[in-house]
Amino acid sequence: MSNVQAIGITDQQQVCDCCGKINLNQTVVLRDEYGVTCFFGTVCAARALGFKVKNILDAKKQIRDAIVADRRAEREKNLDELIEYSDRFAHLLGWKYKPSDQWNVFSNNWLKHNGPQFLERAAEYPAKYPAEAVVLIAKMIALRIITDV
Ligand SMILES: [Zn+2]
Repeated sequence: MSNVQAIGITDQQQVCDCCGKINLNQTVVLRDEYGVTCFFGTVCAARALGFKVKNILDAKKQIRDAIVADRRAEREKNLDELIEYSDRFAHLLGWKYKPSDQWNVFSNNWLKHNGPQFLERAAEYPAKYPAEAVVLIAKMIALRIITDV
């Protein structure tokens, strides 16, 4: 396997898909570049990820650190996207301010409370709102939930 990423650790699967070892307490969920997932024991997973494995504890730590770093990077990327969409949305509606200037206020007030209502109204009266703004607000609501801001 090449270009694999560790996306989680689970106790739902006790067999290593790499070497066939059974009765593992937990396995690492790996995903390849095509989105195919498999379950590897800790040592096999660490090797597949290209880590130098000193011992099982060290392998576990490296895998956990990689998962945390990937999730943080993903969250930051989503947040950047969300802020960009919000500014574009405000521009389309002719607002006088940019959400990025007061991000927390916009996210925790307007987007959280008015965003879903805006989407409902836009579904009811599609001619009243720019189509791109409707697409953006749907994306913004979804991104706000996964970035958990
Ligand atoms: Zn294995």
